[in-house]
Amino acid sequence: MSDVHMLTGAYALDALEGRERTAVEAHCAGCPTCFRECEEFRATAARLGMASTTVPPAALKRRVLDIVRATPRPPPWRLRMSGLGRRLRHRTAVRLLSRTLH
Ligand SMILES: [Zn+2]
Repeated sequence: MSDVHMLTGAYALDALEGRERTAVEAHCAGCPTCFRECEEFRATAARLGMASTTVPPAALKRRVLDIVRATPRPPPWRLRMSGLGRRLRHRTAVRLLSRTLH
């Protein structure tokens, strides 16, 4: 089974079943950080769902891609250390969403 910390996004989107779903639920019951992360993923997914009902302006795609290109990426070996990669990806996703929706 995958590291439970890598499954919070999929769990928040109801994309897990069986043992993986049960493992994330059990972990989140005792880990406020992961519980909060799941709640944030759900809130972000809900906002994205609302945003997809409108046609985005052409400039939005360019702006999002510019932000993605400008966002520094640590080397892969560093992402594998502890939960740094997960936290960075989460922060980047929240930053991108915040910039594009405001
Ligand atoms: Zn945790």
